[in-house]
Amino acid sequence: MTKFLAADLSAAPAGEFSSSGAVGSCQRHSTRSCPSRQPLSQNDHISLRHARSHFGKTLRPAWLPAHRREARTVFGSRRRTQAPASVFPHSPDEGPTLKGAFGHEVGRRPWITGDECIVGLMKDIVGADEKEIALMNGLTVNLHLLLLSFFKPTPTRYRILLEAKAFPSDHYAVESQLQLHGLDVQKSMLMIKPREGEETLRTEDILALIEKEGDSIAVILFSGVQFYTGQLFDMPRITKAGQAKGCFVGFDLAHAVGNVELRLHDWGVDFACWCSYKYLNSGAGGLAGAFIHEKHARTVKPALVGWFGHDLETRFKMENKLQLTPGVNGFRISNPPMLLVSALHASLEVFNQTTMSALRKKSILLTGYLEYLIKHYYGKDKVDRGRPSVNIITPSHPEERGCQLTLVFSIPMKSVFKELEKRGVVCDSREPSGIRLSPVPLYNSFHDVFKFIQILRSVMV
Ligand SMILES: *Cc1c(COP(=O)(O)O)cnc(C)c1O
Repeated sequence: MTKFLAADLSAAPAGEFSSSGAVGSCQRHSTRSCPSRQPLSQNDHISLRHARSHFGKTLRPAWLPAHRREARTVFGSRRRTQAPASVFPHSPDEGPTLKGAFGHEVGRRPWITGDECIVGLMKDIVGADEKEIALMNGLTVNLHLLLLSFFKPTPTRYRILLEAKAFPSDHYAVESQLQLHGLDVQKSMLMIKPREGEETLRTEDILALIEKEGDSIAVILFSGVQFYTGQLFDMPRITKAGQAKGCFVGFDLAHAVGNVELRLHDWGVDFACWCSYKYLNSGAGGLAGAFIHEKHARTVKPALVGWFGHDLETRFKMENKLQLTPGVNGFRISNPPMLLVSALHASLEVFNQTTMSALRKKSILLTGYLEYLIKHYYGKDKVDRGRPSVNIITPSHPEERGCQLTLVFSIPMKSVFKELEKRGVVCDSREPSGIRLSPVPLYNSFHDVFKFIQILRSVMV
C-alpha cells in the first residue's frame, strides 16, 4: 500500500501541490473549493482519503533522537509508517508505534538490526555462538541457501545422504539441488530406510552406511528429531562419522529446536537450519534460523548475496563494493521482517526464563509418564483379544526421542483423532497412520497427561 501511494504521488507534477510542499494540504479542499486544480488528480487524492485514515498522523517525538523531534509528517521513499498502524505489535516499550522510517534506527529493536537484537536469545537453545547463527527467511529457503554453498559435487563425490522418509520439503529441496547441478537424482540421492519390519533407523546402520558409501557422499542431511516417528538422531556420532569420511554434515532441526538439548558448536556440526513455529511457538511461517560452524566462517561463502550480507559498518554507503560479513551472517539477503522478529522475540524471552536442560528434565518425565500409561492400558500384551490397542512407534529410550510419541492404533486413526479433538485434545494426525502427541514441558502438566488418558479411555471403548 505504501508503495502504491508513493508511486501515485511522485508521479504527479510538482505544481500539483500547494507552495508549502506538504502533500496533504490539497486534500483539505474539495474539488469545488479548489477550482484552479486539475480535476483528475484532485479526485484521485479525494478518493484515497479512506486509505490515508489507516496511517498515523504524526510520529511520536519520544521515539526520536533530539535533533529529529520536530518531524511531524514523513515524506520520501519510505514515507509515513510502513504498514497500517493497527498491525504494529504492541509492546510496553514501543506502544502502537508510528516510527516512520526512523524505526530503522531507534527503539529497543531497530529494524535494521532487529534479528541481531534477538539472536543472543537463541544461542543456548541451539548451543552455538551468536556469530554462528542467523535468523532469516523460512526453513526450506535456508536449507536451499546452505546446500548451495555446502553441496559442491565432484565426479567422485556427488551424493547427498538423507532419510528415505525425510519431510517432503527437505526431500524436494535435495532433489532440486541435485537437478540444479545436472545430476541423476536416482544415483545421487542416497536414502536410508529402517530395517524390514522396523519403524525407526538404527544408529549402527546409519554409521555403517556412512562408512561404506562415505567416499562418494558430499553432504549428509538428517533431521534432528524425525517429524513422523519422533526419533532423536545421534547427531554427534553421525557428524563425527560423516566428517571422518570427508563429508559435510548438516541437520534440519525443525522438530528438535526447543525440544531437546542441542550443542551444535561442540558437536562440530557443519551447518543446520530450523523453523521457529513448532516447539518455538512463533506462529506458522515464523522467522527461521540457520547455523554455520565458525570453522567455516572464512571459507564457506554464500552463493546468493544481498545487501544484508554486507558488513553493517559500510552497508549504507551504497558503494556497491561487497564487504561480506564472515560466516552465516553473510548469508542474510534482505531486511529482517520485523513482524516476524517480534513474534519470535516474545517466544524466545519465555524460553530464556528457563533453560533447555530444565525443560528437557521435565520433558523426559512427562513423555515417560504418557508412555507408561498408554502401555499400561493399551499395550498389545495388556488388552484383551478383540479390544483396540495402541502401538508406540517412537523409540522407548529417552535419549532417542524428544517430547513426541507417535501412536499407531489398531482401529482407524481418523475416527480416534476426530473423537479426541471433539473432547478438546490438541494433537496431530499424520499420514499414513500416526497420531503425534507431544506433552510440552513449557506448558503441559502431568495432570494434562492423566486427563488425556481418561479421554482416550472414553474414546477407545
Ligand atoms: C515443518 C518442517 C518443514 C517446513 O518447512 P517451511 O520451509 O518452514 O515451510 C521443513 N522440514 C521439516 C523437517 C519440518 O519439520
